Amino acid sequence: MQHPAILKQDIKYWSAVGAAYAVSGTLMACLLTPLAAVAIGACAIAATAGIYKHLLPRAIKDETAESRLVQRGEKLRGMLDRLIARAGYKKDVSLYTRKAPTTSAWSMLDLIIADEALVRVLDDDEMEAVLGHELSHVMGREASQKVTLLCTPIVASAGVGILSVFNAVAGQGAPSLPVAAGLSLAAVFATEAIFAYALRTREYRADARSALLTGRPGKLVSALTKVTSIDQNGLSAVDAMFHGIPVPLEPEEKPLQRLLSHHPTLRQRVAALEKLM
Ligand SMILES: [Zn+2]
Repeated sequence: MQHPAILKQDIKYWSAVGAAYAVSGTLMACLLTPLAAVAIGACAIAATAGIYKHLLPRAIKDETAESRLVQRGEKLRGMLDRLIARAGYKKDVSLYTRKAPTTSAWSMLDLIIADEALVRVLDDDEMEAVLGHELSHVMGREASQKVTLLCTPIVASAGVGILSVFNAVAGQGAPSLPVAAGLSLAAVFATEAIFAYALRTREYRADARSALLTGRPGKLVSALTKVTSIDQNGLSAVDAMFHGIPVPLEPEEKPLQRLLSHHPTLRQRVAALEKLM
């Protein structure tokens, strides 16, 4: 559950990622042989998967090792264990709190991480609702799916590059730089939009599963509403990565922003939860 305010860092981060994909696709289209393009595409995918599955969880464990919420740590752990039992989930799930001014919670593989500020702001029932939401992400093995999704823009961009190079080999001439850049950008944009849509679907599903596990959809609504009302600044690059494209408070944001948002808006999520009440 991430803070839905408009965060400039997120925009910068995802613009940089998109630009990097597009530039790599363009370079592949103009400069490389098909074999080299395939090799570079494969390395990019392996690197993304490696960072997401190994380096980031380790960094988070290191970062959170120092952070202990003495008064409520045990309570939160008990809450999560009850939710896991209720869900009939058989694997271990670790719970960490993180010293951070932001009020987010997220999950990665078998980890659930909650910012201390979030724990401070929410009451027990609201925290249970948030843990239910994150547990749903863990149970859905969504971290692995997210890696796959993260790779789609790379694949699309590389695909444009590879296709262009094959064209050149077939004697149709290498594409001009603007054509290759345009194709790569279009491929990255299209796959980013699909990626964002898939992530939004997962958010609705996690909200619904949390409501089912806790029996109190209203508590998730109040948690989301509370968090939304808090202004946050100064996110690190890692924070920004997890926050994804910012989710505006109101549904009447710009169409492009809506297309690329990784989370539904507060209003959309509340409307979906109200149907479960
Ligand atoms: Zn979520």
